[in-house]
Amino acid sequence: MAAPYDLVVIGAGPAGEKAAAQAAYWGKRVAVIDRQAHPGGTMVGGAVSSKTMREAALYLTGFRQRDVYEVGLDLGPSVAVERLRHRTNDVVRLMTESAIANLARHGIDVIHGEATLGPNRTVVVDGAGEGAPRVIPAEVIIITTGSRPFRPPGIAFDDPCILDADAAALINRPLRSLVVVGGGAVGCEFASIFTALGADVVLVDSGPRLLPFMDGDISDLLAATFRDMGMRVLQGAGRARVARTDAGLGVELGSGEVLRPETVIFAAGRAGNTDSLGLDMAGVAVDERGRIVVDDRFRTTAPGIYAAGDVIGPPALASVSMEQARVAACWAFDIPFKRTVDPLPPFGVYSIPEVAMVGLTEQQAEATGIDYAVGRAPLDQNTRATIAGSTEGMVKLVFGRDELDLLGVHIVGEAATELIHHGQAVIHFGGTIDYFIHSTFNVPTVSEAYKYAAYDGLSNVGR
Ligand SMILES: Cc1cc2nc3c(=O)[nH]c(=O)nc-3n(C[C@H](O)[C@H](O)[C@H](O)COP(=O)(O)OP(=O)(O)OC[C@H]3O[C@@H](n4cnc5c(N)ncnc54)[C@H](O)[C@@H]3O)c2cc1C
Repeated sequence: MAAPYDLVVIGAGPAGEKAAAQAAYWGKRVAVIDRQAHPGGTMVGGAVSSKTMREAALYLTGFRQRDVYEVGLDLGPSVAVERLRHRTNDVVRLMTESAIANLARHGIDVIHGEATLGPNRTVVVDGAGEGAPRVIPAEVIIITTGSRPFRPPGIAFDDPCILDADAAALINRPLRSLVVVGGGAVGCEFASIFTALGADVVLVDSGPRLLPFMDGDISDLLAATFRDMGMRVLQGAGRARVARTDAGLGVELGSGEVLRPETVIFAAGRAGNTDSLGLDMAGVAVDERGRIVVDDRFRTTAPGIYAAGDVIGPPALASVSMEQARVAACWAFDIPFKRTVDPLPPFGVYSIPEVAMVGLTEQQAEATGIDYAVGRAPLDQNTRATIAGSTEGMVKLVFGRDELDLLGVHIVGEAATELIHHGQAVIHFGGTIDYFIHSTFNVPTVSEAYKYAAYDGLSNVGR
């Protein structure tokens, strides 16, 4: 048996890396195990890949500039995809190296292999042909094994033209036509990236609106913008059935219409990586969807075993997963540093254009009976957005009618995922929309839209 560690982390995605680094920073002896040869998890393989594809698609097609200057980069589709792949691989390599360096800097042992929980707080690591399994004892175990794409039953994912979200992030060929099934964050991202790259894209969603967790105005504006870009957006389309017949690949919609794309991407949510961990034997309970059950300190039902990140369920964001993991490590070792996860995380969707939100939507404010009002600033009235040729979008504020306290911010537009942090800070500090009225903003900036959304809000409450 190997020498005991204070902490063994199973899974070296963003949650595992941050749990390990947090404990090691406070002097703990830490090992992290991953079945992949390199750390990074879905963050590097999915999130970083898709974001780099987005930037590369915008640059290589001159998507923003071609309307403004009436010139674009005139690369053929296969050259554009080859350059996009090249750039994506480079960024993935750099971010993987950065994770490796962070673990090394903290003196963390990185062990390659498939991990399962053993008896008496041990982890058994099967090193995939690297000798007999190792049994590693630990004072504390943190499970951060993340998630994988949910694959609806009855779909032939062995067909090279039927892809889940992880496979979509690896596409290395130009697509002429594409159906994306799923109007959540990942579906919207891939649908808009491939529209920018010139594919004929249909986005199919079973629900009545895209990004159902977002504010209704924002979902509607995004769908309208997608349509203006040339995408076909089908909402309330029922359950899509996909089959390959002699006629080729077919996507049958609830209406009976059959679409005939070259490729289909399923973006149908995620399932936790818990099947092979031996949770049952170790006394770690899961819920009806196989997600590990934790309390507010990220303790599982087994003493000394914690879990964080995608493996415990929504929101399944790298941003939140990393914070959960740091908090879990702090509770596990009684480190007086970080005891709670921010209850108001921002949500960002890296579609073209981007979407972001923090706090309450108008629908949530209404449902909870809050006396609220809203203010809006369309980006086609914003100087910086006009200069950049990115005028599709809006900043929308939801605030209390009497006190003017800021309750929620909702943005569609380029750099929405950056802009949202102004609103996040104001909400966190208990501010009102007066902050935007009385602060001086750089001009011209897109941030200035906050000021005009606040003025619109004031006029809506008669002040
Ligand atoms: C296409 C796409 C785009 C995304 N975009 C964003 C975004 O823009 N912003 C954002 O915040 N989030 C985004 N996400 C979500 C984000 O990637 C995840 O929330 C995040 O990676 C979860 O981190 P994690 O550490 O919990 O799990 P993961 O990143 O899934 O890592 C889990 C690790 O555990 C390892 N593992 C699993 N089981 C075992 C085992 N038994 N033994 C050993 N190792 C094991 C895996 O190999 C993996 O390395 C995106 C996801 C996808 C798919």
